[in-house]
Amino acid sequence: MPPHPKRKLSKGRRDRRRANDALQPVHLVKCKQCGSMRLPHHACPDCGTYNGQTVLDVEERSRRPASRPAVRSVAHLPQQGGEQTHDL
Ligand SMILES: [Zn+2]
Repeated sequence: MPPHPKRKLSKGRRDRRRANDALQPVHLVKCKQCGSMRLPHHACPDCGTYNGQTVLDVEERSRRPASRPAVRSVAHLPQQGGEQTHDL
């Protein structure tokens, strides 16, 4: 006999578990360079800049959309001035 729940979960307990299951909308910020919406702390996929520097070759990505060669290098960029900027 396989393992089995000892008791039925009440509706309240089931619903309390599901209260945290809703998907949150994707948080987007406006790119300072081109004004398009992008993920925070990510290079802009439209203009290829991060923190004012060009870090992605946008033309190369549009030529070969399947490969994403330069994205990995973004995480290792040094922060300018050591301060975090938050777009609110
Ligand atoms: Zn941009």
